[in-house]
Amino acid sequence: MNNILEIKNLNISFQLEEEKAKAVHGVNLTLEKGKVLGIVGESGCGKSVTAMSIMKLLPSNAVIEAGEIIFNGENLLKMPDKKMQTIRGSKISLIPQDPLTSLNPLYTVGEQIIETIEFHLKVSRNEARELAVEALKSVKIPEAQDRLNDYPHQFSGGMRQRAIIAMALCCNPELIIADEPTTALDVTVQAQILDLIRQIQADRGTSLIFITHDLGVIAEFCDNVAVMYAGRVVEYASVADIFKNSGLVKGEDYRHPYTKGLLESLPSPDKEILNVISGQPPQITENIAGCVFNPRCPYKMPVCETLEPVLTLHARNHEVFCHLF
Ligand code: SF4
Repeated sequence: MNNILEIKNLNISFQLEEEKAKAVHGVNLTLEKGKVLGIVGESGCGKSVTAMSIMKLLPSNAVIEAGEIIFNGENLLKMPDKKMQTIRGSKISLIPQDPLTSLNPLYTVGEQIIETIEFHLKVSRNEARELAVEALKSVKIPEAQDRLNDYPHQFSGGMRQRAIIAMALCCNPELIIADEPTTALDVTVQAQILDLIRQIQADRGTSLIFITHDLGVIAEFCDNVAVMYAGRVVEYASVADIFKNSGLVKGEDYRHPYTKGLLESLPSPDKEILNVISGQPPQITENIAGCVFNPRCPYKMPVCETLEPVLTLHARNHEVFCHLF
């Protein structure tokens, strides 16, 4: 197997005013070259913190307590900042949630893309400008040559997100991290942006981590999915296993109760009433004995309140952390 990324036993805390709160608990993930890994979970489950740790763009009060992030054989967590700057934006790129806060309103869109290209590819101004036009064309921005001179406020929300994707792509990264890239967009534009990302990934064979709270989106274009809850990966499987319930033995359901809850809450035309997972995810400072999902789990057993499940099912690329198995 040719893994471009391996996250091993990642533990991240945040130093709050009076206490330390753990946001990521022993996360292990792998991404094969050219594949798409979806990370799904509710807000605050640690998915974006995990992704930002790959970019080494965590807030200043974040502390990486333990773990390794191996990218192309090198541990990014041990990499000097200067070297990391050359990787960020060229080998690993980010498509963030909100394009408005990611683009500088004082510079033209073109200037921002050209600067990225000049910094990483060390080409002349003219070459950088040509590459910037190509990048805008590749994300289907019409009249790319002229739009290069526009400021971010002259772009619509969807166009701004396209410009951000162009900036993420302009140096041909090996890994793209898309952190809920359609959340800030109108519903009508969301589908277009998802299609664009899917098409670019397929055409270029770029490895992609796609972060979302929507399992429906995961179904559309991910190969594997990690389901996160309260800072932990509670299930890791192929998308086929999660959605087709193929399990180990036909007819048996090996999915984690939280994953099942997420699936059952997906809207569909034949559902009159949407199921919801009762309760709320725990606060980052909350300590829950046993399984962290136990206060919300319809399958809870006495052991779930005292013993934290470790990896309890591991077969055929399917990992589940639950006492049921
Ligand atoms: Fe539910 Fe227990 Fe499994 Fe946790 S370990 S998900 S509480 S059955």
